[in-house]
Amino acid sequence: MARSAVPPVLFVIDDDPSSLDVLLSDLSRRFGNDFVLRGDTSPEAALAALQEMAAASEPVALLLVDDATPDFLARAHELHPGAKRVLLVDRDYSSTSPAVQAMALGRADYHIVRPWADNESMYRTMSEYLSSWTVEQEPNFEEFRIVAADGDSRVLQLRDVMTRFSMPFGVYATESEAGRRLLDQAGLDGTRLPVVIRYDGQVMIDPSLPDLAGAVGVSIKNEIDTCEVAIVGAGPAGLTAAVYAASEGLETVMLERAMSGGQAGTSPLIRNYPGFPHGINGGLLMERTCEQAWLMGAHIVFAQQAVALERRGDDRIVHLFDGTELRARAVVIATGIEWRRLGVPRLEALVGSGVFYGAAVSESRAMHDQDVFIVGAGNSAGQAALDLAKHARVVTLVVRGDSFAESMSSYLVRAIESIPNVVVRHGTEVVDGAGNGSLECIRLADRANDTVEEVSAAALFIMIGGEPHTQWLPAEIARDADGYLITGRDLREQPGGHWDDDGQPLTFETSMSGVFAAGDVRQGSIKRVASAVGEGATVVRMVHEHLREDQPT
Ligand SMILES: Cc1cc2nc3c(=O)[nH]c(=O)nc-3n(C[C@H](O)[C@H](O)[C@H](O)COP(=O)(O)OP(=O)(O)OC[C@H]3O[C@@H](n4cnc5c(N)ncnc54)[C@H](O)[C@@H]3O)c2cc1C
Repeated sequence: MARSAVPPVLFVIDDDPSSLDVLLSDLSRRFGNDFVLRGDTSPEAALAALQEMAAASEPVALLLVDDATPDFLARAHELHPGAKRVLLVDRDYSSTSPAVQAMALGRADYHIVRPWADNESMYRTMSEYLSSWTVEQEPNFEEFRIVAADGDSRVLQLRDVMTRFSMPFGVYATESEAGRRLLDQAGLDGTRLPVVIRYDGQVMIDPSLPDLAGAVGVSIKNEIDTCEVAIVGAGPAGLTAAVYAASEGLETVMLERAMSGGQAGTSPLIRNYPGFPHGINGGLLMERTCEQAWLMGAHIVFAQQAVALERRGDDRIVHLFDGTELRARAVVIATGIEWRRLGVPRLEALVGSGVFYGAAVSESRAMHDQDVFIVGAGNSAGQAALDLAKHARVVTLVVRGDSFAESMSSYLVRAIESIPNVVVRHGTEVVDGAGNGSLECIRLADRANDTVEEVSAAALFIMIGGEPHTQWLPAEIARDADGYLITGRDLREQPGGHWDDDGQPLTFETSMSGVFAAGDVRQGSIKRVASAVGEGATVVRMVHEHLREDQPT
């Protein structure tokens, strides 16, 4: 661990003095060399101590807090926002455990259940939590330095690319001393911005996505003319299909119009992906899957959009944005949907920590006795209001228009009107929000009265819909009225579907035989990371079946 002048503090609050003593001495035995162990039984005394430490700029790495003092965590975190918050809870795997709500609302980063089976397992867990703090403190080697004017919206795209490829970077305002120095060193006067400077001195002025992809070191040009399976889209469905296809010996090319990770890659915290009880950063999860696909032998091409698809004899031809063609025996379309985003930067930063795109049902129990908000006026927003109202104190539906009449089924409107703890605010928009580690409040603009009001909010569910990326496909690939790809048996049963080949379409096969769909783009998909991953794995089995049946004669 990098040592700072003042060793960081590991602070424990437990209202039971003997338990506090045992904890401090156990933790000190393992972590005492690197951290100063401090603790208290009284929240007030602890807050006073933490206040003094904040005033003296003493770093606090971790707050281990007994569940009897839940409010304490929020106040302590205000004083030490970088500290990891660990809730110490009794062994109780019921849905009423305080850990359930604290994790759902982003009010704790981790939890520890006591009594623990043995000290070694507790040390392992604590080491993991401490290492996540340590990693955040490491002095940054910056592989890229971005110099931009304050408020330049292109910085968001640059940040996104760097983050998705785990490239350490720093952003410097042109007006700052460091920003001016970087421009001077590069021999630039700052008239054209933003400027990106790589660690080796390579300078890019207002770089395009392919420029950046090239500088990051990923392929942006497809070098392969013919493959067995072409996968379009590198979100969870496409990446998983690439892992399975390549690992099962298929010559695999994956095309991605932007950078790897899809929608999942933009989520700071995915809470419902199996195996990660404290959630996982979506970018990290996708980056690992992408690396796995590459190591399995998939050819991955970024910043290269598929613009058209056609069938030529036994082959399916994917046309690329740069004018080249890729000939494949089978194609998997995993292009997902364009979720409409709220576009409020401070709320986007809290996604997974009180702000959710969709996901209302899975989080509803954790909303017990809380004030929660839903943005949206469609059936999914209406259904979410009914689910959340069973647990939350008050559910407020924030609706931009003046009525639901055209967007929500009348049975849902009636149900909402009959539930006392559901409030509807028409003519209203969410324009801002804030929270220290988790959502605390949002700002609502009332368009008719031209007023903005700040209200406390434990959670915000954004359900404003999306549109599938299917416009580039030929008319012979059947879609439903909303543009989703119809697959499998539904081709014969759904309006808009058709199947012109012999035999039955395979599961996930579209109306063009040998062309499959997986993930959010498919009609009837579940719109979750884990289900997209499941479809990505399953579709490869169908590709094998198609290749067996479609052996060239
Ligand atoms: C902010 C946010 C948070 C979310 N949080 C959660 C969560 O916590 N838990 C959960 O289960 N789900 C969550 N979701 C939903 C989840 O991310 C999606 O269900 C999942 O990403 C769908 O995966 P996919 O591979 O089908 O599509 P996507 O992830 O949308 O990926 C599609 C990819 O295809 C690419 N593409 C599109 N068109 C083309 C083309 N013509 N050529 C080449 N490439 C193309 C796109 O650039 C994109 O990278 C969240 C969604 C959002 C927006």
